[in-house]
Amino acid sequence: MRAIIGTRMLGLLQGDITKVQADAIVNAANSRLMGGGGVDGAIHDAAGTSVMDECARIGSCPTGKAVATKAGRLRARWIFHAVGPEWDDGNQGEADVLGATYQACLTLADEKGCETIAFPAISTGTYAFPLGPAAEVALDTVARHLEKGVTSVKTAVFVLYDHRAFDTFARVLSRLATERQWPVGDWDTP
Ligand code: ADP
Repeated sequence: MRAIIGTRMLGLLQGDITKVQADAIVNAANSRLMGGGGVDGAIHDAAGTSVMDECARIGSCPTGKAVATKAGRLRARWIFHAVGPEWDDGNQGEADVLGATYQACLTLADEKGCETIAFPAISTGTYAFPLGPAAEVALDTVARHLEKGVTSVKTAVFVLYDHRAFDTFARVLSRLATERQWPVGDWDTP
């Protein structure tokens, strides 16, 4: 599924983000940049040890921010290691911090001149952010950035690992598209 936002595109795919080709692939990292399970483990396994070495040199990244490394063996120029919030009870500013995390990636994308960027559903695994609210923040933050028109990003895609995440993001994107009058369709239809 994809929505056209002005001259930009916001898309959803179901699958493994390590297989995607993009200028930048976003990793849901932890603040020690040490790797771990989930998408972080999958990205480091696929990218190779040079990326972990670069993360070790950088050392750490605060929650709500992101750092860039080269992408090793991934089909990308950059990996943006983004540290999303851990869900507590929803009243600890989690949504604002998640929005800031996506925004940090978009700012890096513009600094690097990226035209395509692929995101996982940051914080929705080990960090336990509920999918519905996470999809609202993720899609709204990225769509607002694309709407600005000053960004280098032409296509942003969310790569959702399982059906439940994909269906949740698709439901929220459909609703936003209706509200904001963005044309929607499959990847293949104009
Ligand atoms: P966090 O600690 O930010 O919650 P996780 O890696 O535990 O990070 O989970 C974030 C999301 O990434 C989850 O929705 C999980 O299902 C998803 N995920 C796990 N592996 C992959 C992958 N290879 N490609 C895309 N998404 C993935």
